[in-house]
Amino acid sequence: MQLYVHIPFCLRKCNYCDFLSGPADESVREQYVNALIKEIEKRGQTFGRRGALTSVYFGGGTPSVLTLRQLEAIYNAISRDFTVDKNAEITIEVNPGSARDKIHFMKNLGFNRLSIGLQSIHKSELAFLGRIHSFEDFRACFSDARDAGFSNINVDIMTAFPGQTESSLAATIDTITKLSCEHISAYSLSIEEGTPFYERFKDIEGPVVGQENERKLYWMTVDMLKDRGYKHYEISNFAKPGFESRHNSGYWKREYYLGVGLGASSCIPAPSGDERVRNTTDMATYLADPLTREESTVLTKDEMIQETIYLGLRMMDGVDTDRFVKRFGVTVRSIYGDVIDDLAAQGLIYEGSSSLSLTDLGIDYGNHVFASFLK
Ligand code: SF4
Repeated sequence: MQLYVHIPFCLRKCNYCDFLSGPADESVREQYVNALIKEIEKRGQTFGRRGALTSVYFGGGTPSVLTLRQLEAIYNAISRDFTVDKNAEITIEVNPGSARDKIHFMKNLGFNRLSIGLQSIHKSELAFLGRIHSFEDFRACFSDARDAGFSNINVDIMTAFPGQTESSLAATIDTITKLSCEHISAYSLSIEEGTPFYERFKDIEGPVVGQENERKLYWMTVDMLKDRGYKHYEISNFAKPGFESRHNSGYWKREYYLGVGLGASSCIPAPSGDERVRNTTDMATYLADPLTREESTVLTKDEMIQETIYLGLRMMDGVDTDRFVKRFGVTVRSIYGDVIDDLAAQGLIYEGSSSLSLTDLGIDYGNHVFASFLK
């Protein structure tokens, strides 16, 4: 099983972000850490003996806004209440604007993977996106991370936002690949309700920069990163060989995970089918009782099958159809033969001897392909 730890704090909200996160004063952060530790302890009593954790991921929000003492207290609680596999991937997301003096400490604590949110190297683009940091902050953070001994670093970049050009994106990609980070996540801007960008761009249908331009920037990113030795292993993720994110790959392979913290989701085994649960998203409720669930659904076999297909298709290796048979006792073809034939005829999907994957055209029409398996 994998463990996700949600830290819902940021120094300031970015203009595009609808994650469950935001600024909070120190007393709320302290109460939150105490509640989170309580939740970890209680969940540990249920899940702590079900095998070692293969990955731990501190995400948010911005985990690096916590103090060293708070990070240590959470980390120690996990080590005490769960067994963490000695080869586990242990990631922490950091913002270059709040991480610098904490990087060595994070490494010494036991984190072995760092995920740095950069988005762009350009001052005007960072300002447009509402990021709190500069490129110089990022460069210093990256250099600290290498000095501290992090040999597995992800950098997040964003594509297809107003003002970004092919040459400005190329410069961002060029700069970060020269730093030889091991992993790059490159997501196109999407406009989410409740964000400042939503108010500004809600009347535009589809990608804000236009469908054609968004696709052009996407494929330019893919080509540049492949040229520089990064494997395109998921629609929006790239890694040097052997550095694919194990935690995120677990989501796409539909492995079990436990989420702790405000609004954290879990997919856990239950007697009559897998259960998807979500913690309360209300901070006051969470602080009062961090075991409060907001949603809990036991999935039907059909729902588990659909999830396995559309999550698996996000990976370039596709759905492992042999594994599918072992898991569900039927072949993918016996359920979706007609859909597969139809999508293959349109050139959107490729059926190998033990896999089902998107073609390049299928990536461009991913939503259509995914929807075809949900009927
Ligand atoms: S730092 Fe990350 S989580 Fe926080 S507002 Fe910005 S994008 Fe969202």
